[in-house]
Amino acid sequence: MIIHLDLDSFFASCERLLNPNLKGKPIAVGGRGDPFIFDKESRRNIDVTLKNSGAFVPTLFYDSKSSFADYFVEESKIRGIVITSSYEARACGVKTGMTIREALLCCPALTVLPPNHLFYHDRSNALKLYLQKRIPVVEQYSIDEFFGDLNGWVDESETKEFLTGLREDIKKEFDLPVSIGAAPSKWIAKMATSAAKPGRGSGVKILFKKDIDSFIDHLPIEAFPGIGHGFSRRLRAYKIETLGELKEAKHLLYRWKKPGRQLYHRVNGDDNEPVAAGYDRRSIGISRTIDPVYDRDEIRRRLIILCRHLAQLVIKIDAAPGTIFLGIKYQFGQKSKRSVSEKFIFSELALRRRILKLFETIDIYPSLAVIRLSISCSNFQNGASVSGSLFEHERALKERNLWRYTAKVRRKYGIDAIRSGIEML
Ligand SMILES: [Mg+2]
Repeated sequence: MIIHLDLDSFFASCERLLNPNLKGKPIAVGGRGDPFIFDKESRRNIDVTLKNSGAFVPTLFYDSKSSFADYFVEESKIRGIVITSSYEARACGVKTGMTIREALLCCPALTVLPPNHLFYHDRSNALKLYLQKRIPVVEQYSIDEFFGDLNGWVDESETKEFLTGLREDIKKEFDLPVSIGAAPSKWIAKMATSAAKPGRGSGVKILFKKDIDSFIDHLPIEAFPGIGHGFSRRLRAYKIETLGELKEAKHLLYRWKKPGRQLYHRVNGDDNEPVAAGYDRRSIGISRTIDPVYDRDEIRRRLIILCRHLAQLVIKIDAAPGTIFLGIKYQFGQKSKRSVSEKFIFSELALRRRILKLFETIDIYPSLAVIRLSISCSNFQNGASVSGSLFEHERALKERNLWRYTAKVRRKYGIDAIRSGIEML
């Protein structure tokens, strides 16, 4: 069997580890998408981390020792959205993605906490190491989700006993509640987990081959992992509303190329996708949604800041990316994006030059305000890449060494310790 573990209201549960008085109370962890990253003043105790970021995009971390007022209140307005809430809060109608103002209106007793991402990552990583001791193949799927392969390790008939024990041990060892699903294939196991969640199930849900059809066929298509707005609209246009109907729609889904084929087999449970323990990092990036900005110099300044953060991450893992990507979202739903692939010796300056150059070429709606910026590096090469001439190569190596030193200083004194003058203009 393949299993899927999902920690229950993970960030909220972590906050209860830090403050046990919060147990049993409605709490929410809120976020502001790092509102301080573009500040002109330097912040302290800020670092970037890639710890345990196997399958998800790393985040920048704000010093968590801030209070509600410091973090959420700006010009006497409450800002921010709910990232996670405890089940007690959900019972009053609090939902992920809600603004904190709305959440406080529907649950006045709610305690709202600033996020503590470093601590969440630390707990997530500790749990991963623990799971690796208990299960031979573990794949981290997100900060609070893991897949495991029990085949050849636990006999199918003993799945229930094993998972019940595992769940209790995690509770004992980490004091974190978790729900576990099991099925012969990955995505059906993930579905099983949602049926094991508090309020819906008892923490463990196992779907044997014979039980799968009756479990999923009547469910709405949106219940399946990976069916978002786009897919669901397209399927509904063909009157496909349940997963049972989707399972019959082979011809239609095969017309939708790889994503369609993949979905068809996932829902049918014959995708044969393995639990991938050694997930290779394919790309690392940073995105930020911003209040609309028209001024292109300000956009450039912000891109330089994003480059600084991303470079710190890349240098930290000593990676040599061969591809650099920039994406812009404008008002009114317009988008523009492009990537460049070339061999070059990585440094913050090398990244910045390429991103700024990309910006000049892809800023195709210069009269529109920009509302989101994304940059990323991918296509990691082994060893340092080489660029054109020997002279250029030497210069690039010097640059790289300088930026490595800079990275060291920042690791010690925080990511804001060394900034470019241009960022503060
Ligand atoms: Mg979870």
